[in-house]
Amino acid sequence: MRVLKSILLAAALAAPFAGASAQDMLADEVKVCGHMTMPDTMALHNMLLNEAYVVPSMDMYPSWENNKVHYTAALPDSFKIDLTGFVMPTASRKVTDIFGYRPRRRRVHNGLDIKVERGDTIYAAFDGKVRITAFQRRGYGHYVVIRHNNGIETLYAHLSKKLVNENQNVKAGDPIGLGGNTGRSTGSHLHFETILLGKCIDPALLFDFPNQDVTGDNYVYRKPGARYVENGKVKVAGPEPKYHKVKSGDTIERIARKHGVSQQTIFKLNGLNSRSIIRPGQNLRYQ
Ligand SMILES: [Zn+2]
Repeated sequence: MRVLKSILLAAALAAPFAGASAQDMLADEVKVCGHMTMPDTMALHNMLLNEAYVVPSMDMYPSWENNKVHYTAALPDSFKIDLTGFVMPTASRKVTDIFGYRPRRRRVHNGLDIKVERGDTIYAAFDGKVRITAFQRRGYGHYVVIRHNNGIETLYAHLSKKLVNENQNVKAGDPIGLGGNTGRSTGSHLHFETILLGKCIDPALLFDFPNQDVTGDNYVYRKPGARYVENGKVKVAGPEPKYHKVKSGDTIERIARKHGVSQQTIFKLNGLNSRSIIRPGQNLRYQ
């Protein structure tokens, strides 16, 4: 009965995708996971029928290498990242720099900066296996990359000391290093990245450092433009969220003008209205 229900649901889901059947979606996924055996394919098929998105795992990675931090891998249209079982990498609540493009420095900041003192313990965010421990004098300083069972990788940089070795299994909450100021860093802090199949995503979408919590039991990453079904309706994933860190003297009008969006867009994305007060240090989403 359950199976029949799934098939009916799949038919309902597949119907609105003009030209794209569940089978097409499956074909797309199989390309990503080329090494899958037949029973795995069936399992994935059933999962797609039921959920229409992919739950990542370590198996989705093409290889295990101890050198390259970021690499290009095929990204499915969507990922559901399980955030249960997390441990905050640091007890610090203070975010000192947010994720995104820095027009002034003409470079992308691939992670979040969190204030930590030299010697503060840094913890593994989830269960996983240490992929890289290395030193980069002009960049990350001492850093650690862990591949997690939930499919993402996390990177911890500017450490004063690494406490783990490559290819070592770790549990969420295991100490993996000590906070520091090594590499290209001014003032001790933790540079923290969350990476999905080689692509950096904003750690603030997963981790809420000010509240020492995750943003939910899971986070669904969707490729911009990807179609998906929510509450029985086909939707198209919007562009990736972008944030502006409010500086003193900023107004919503000024922020809107700076990023070429309307004030209404900022109100809507942040649950604000024209009477709302913004404060320095606050992160406002503008896309
Ligand atoms: Zn940083």
